[in-house]
Amino acid sequence: PTGLLSIENLTVDFHTPRGTARAVDGVSLGLFPGEILGLAGESGCGKSTLAMAVPRLLRDPAVITGGRVRLGDGDGDGVDLLGLSDEELRRVRWRDIAVVFQNAMNALNPVLRVEAQLVDVIRTHERTGRREARERAARLCGLVGIGADRLRAYPHELSGGMRQRIAIAIALALRPRLLIMDEPTTALDVVVQREIIAEVRRLQERLGFAVLFITHDISLLVEISDRIAIMYAGEVVELADARTILDDPAHPYTRGLLASFPTLHGDDTRLTGIPGAPPDLVDPPPGCRFAPRCPSAHDRCRAERPVRVTVGDRDVACHLYGPAEVTP
Ligand code: SF4
Ligand code: MG
Repeated sequence: PTGLLSIENLTVDFHTPRGTARAVDGVSLGLFPGEILGLAGESGCGKSTLAMAVPRLLRDPAVITGGRVRLGDGDGDGVDLLGLSDEELRRVRWRDIAVVFQNAMNALNPVLRVEAQLVDVIRTHERTGRREARERAARLCGLVGIGADRLRAYPHELSGGMRQRIAIAIALALRPRLLIMDEPTTALDVVVQREIIAEVRRLQERLGFAVLFITHDISLLVEISDRIAIMYAGEVVELADARTILDDPAHPYTRGLLASFPTLHGDDTRLTGIPGAPPDLVDPPPGCRFAPRCPSAHDRCRAERPVRVTVGDRDVACHLYGPAEVTP
């Protein structure tokens, strides 16, 4: 693998009093250096769990129960993040992989000024003089569109959008190769969302890092992503270029998701949505997990689980595509 990140057959289980829920079920996904990969799906589909498994930030009761997560090093096989010690992992986080969460308020320290937080991150991880770190802090703020006059501010003195920009600046402080963004703009109003999305795209083009961008809002993903992976009930059901997903979605679930966002299709303001709810992962339906909600479901769907196959320029897991039924 020559990619930046290679997730192979990853499984994550939640041990609950009712039984084990497999929140991520054998997912394989790769990221190229410098690409923006969007991950979409309804809440509870496993997209955050998958993304947080990469830097091993999962908490109880979520446990990684199988697979590999390899971080490429340009040559050779790279390192399996799942095999690293806590100490090695701390070095990888921030330096190689940084994370931006939905609510920056939780990531920022409320009693430290913006500048002090940036300086802290830089000086904790690199041998840098205080003065140089402060200069870098100012540059980082400029990079995310925050004026130097805000460096002396406390988080509560900033708007939600500004706080999220600071969180991005902190994440970029050590020039990571991969930025994981989990619903980074969901708490913000639409105009600010769009501004920040455009900013991330600009920064990505300038600095060359890759992004794993997670959101339930597929219309945002279409604006920012190079490729998009669609998750349903713990599986990646479709993976393709953003344009292919938008113009020619193949999986019935992808179609349903796109139909849920009317802004994509001009003046049709009807929200179609997808009737029904995702399955209980403690006791998922046999066969295709989307079958109970799928308008194209047929007998085979309820009996046999579709496997993900490459069809043309996409990967898709659905019996409407790919290998025909094997008759015993
Ligand atoms: Fe629908 Fe069948 Fe495809 Fe599942 S496998 S998405 S039920 S058509
Ligand atoms: Mg989530």
